[in-house]
Amino acid sequence: MQIGVLALQGAFIEHEQMLSRLGVSSFEIRQKRDLQKSLDGLIIPGGESTVQGKLLRELDLFEPLAERIATGLPVFGTCAGLLLLAKQIKNDDRRHFAVMDITAVRNAYGRQLGSFFTEAEFNGIGTIPMTFIRAPYIESVHGDTEILSCVDEKIVAAREGNLLVTAFHPELNEDLSVHRYFTEMVQSA
Ligand code: GLN
Repeated sequence: MQIGVLALQGAFIEHEQMLSRLGVSSFEIRQKRDLQKSLDGLIIPGGESTVQGKLLRELDLFEPLAERIATGLPVFGTCAGLLLLAKQIKNDDRRHFAVMDITAVRNAYGRQLGSFFTEAEFNGIGTIPMTFIRAPYIESVHGDTEILSCVDEKIVAAREGNLLVTAFHPELNEDLSVHRYFTEMVQSA
């Protein structure tokens, strides 16, 4: 199994470290030729969704990745990655891959004071640590999308088929369980 980590901007190194601790090999996707490698799953890290969206297009990565996602490539989007996958973003006109049937709210906890740590239940895993950094949350899910976790009545993790998103950053804590969950998704895809 080989997982590509989008490495244009944001917290990508931490995802690579989590995968390596799980014994899963990964490589960085920085330019189009990186897509020649065999790719079983993709992680879109946290950072700035607008910057990542712009770089994806400028580097001609957007179309080829959109095609792979449309044909079932498993994707895990954290924070900004969630926004790149959302079909609807309530307070932003920009749309990126727009494949997942969720309505997200950007910078939903406020811009400056929006960073916090908590522990909450994640369906099928148990209670896990969650670090939020100027995070979005999911206001509503539609279609077949399954809610995996809520914090203060806000949806913070969801899954639709091969798409997994978290509003928090599991790569910034020691707990490997969300990454393990994703690698299991990749395995059974
Ligand atoms: N606020 C960022 C955005 O709108 C997301 C923050 C994050 O990824 N930690 O893209």
